[in-house]
Amino acid sequence: MKKGNILILGALGQIGTELTVALRNRYSTHAVIASDIYMPKNNIIDSGPFELVDATDYDQLVRVVSSHQIDTIYLLAAMLSVRAESNPEKAWDLNMKSLMNVLNLAKNKHIKYLFWPSSIAVFGPKSPQQNTPQHTIMDPITVYGISKLAGERWCKYYHTNYGVDVRSLRYPGIISWQTQPGGGTTDYAVDCFHKALTEASFCCYLNFNTALPMMYIDDAIDATLQLMAAPTHKISVRTSYNISAMSFTPNELAQSIQNHKPNFEITYAVDSRQNIADSWPNSIDDQLARQDWNWQPKHDLSSTTKLMLEQLSKTHNML
Ligand code: NAD
Repeated sequence: MKKGNILILGALGQIGTELTVALRNRYSTHAVIASDIYMPKNNIIDSGPFELVDATDYDQLVRVVSSHQIDTIYLLAAMLSVRAESNPEKAWDLNMKSLMNVLNLAKNKHIKYLFWPSSIAVFGPKSPQQNTPQHTIMDPITVYGISKLAGERWCKYYHTNYGVDVRSLRYPGIISWQTQPGGGTTDYAVDCFHKALTEASFCCYLNFNTALPMMYIDDAIDATLQLMAAPTHKISVRTSYNISAMSFTPNELAQSIQNHKPNFEITYAVDSRQNIADSWPNSIDDQLARQDWNWQPKHDLSSTTKLMLEQLSKTHNML
């Protein structure tokens, strides 16, 4: 039975918005404190407690953890791949300082449980691109990928040396409709759904045949909750688990949208984001997650397309 409350750092982003609601549904509204560095414009604040918290400020974290009796943190604050390339040092500072802070909170017994997401960006050009294994060559070319790989090693180090219960998933590109994605290489997929509805055409910055691993948000949230609920003895990976749901190219995404919107057209104007995409896996082997805590995705490209178009149709009609 869970005793303490939950703090979500970076709760107003693409994943945090939906994770906050899912955790409030699972536990109780007041047991889940959402936080970010700016005040929310959406309904998170109305649905429960919200705090302004900078994840890079250790003393502030100690105060919030103590005043809300927090025992679990989900750290979602980060600068993602594309945005990080335009400000590498700032990205490194945010991604590493926030992680070291929460690892130290756990080491110093302020909290008991920690979730921190890694990414498929930990892989690089020398990693096998098809069904990329859990354990393989990792030579990330982006500062984002370097920070995630270093972060994974720190998680393992804190678990081994200080007994910190930190758990992690290597999320693929996340597809969701409630908020805009935050500056990653896979953002094109979400944008493509929006443009299919608003303009019936989309100009893609990746090549038509660039396959990347992707996941519908509901699967990402389910995986996160499942991993955090799994018994300790089932967790064999203390860096970060590979997880997978689907892989598709821009061309395959366009065809899937055309099944619902036959007039939709996709064009291509490839830019520097292609280099990042080329260095990432085409597909991921997530055997260990399936074995250890029964990971099983529910959504493929077809069901994701249907859900995204249905949900975004409602959103765009409301604007
Ligand atoms: P996002 O950019 O949408 O949201 C990040 C949130 O962190 C923002 O609301 C931002 O205001 C907040 N933030 C920034 N600096 C902060 C600070 N100093 N203190 C507190 N909050 C701060 O990101 P996301 O897509 O929700 O990603 C969440 C996590 O999942 C990140 O670690 C990211 O690397 C990882 N991830 C995401 C994807 C994806 O496709 N979205 C894929 C792989 C991994």
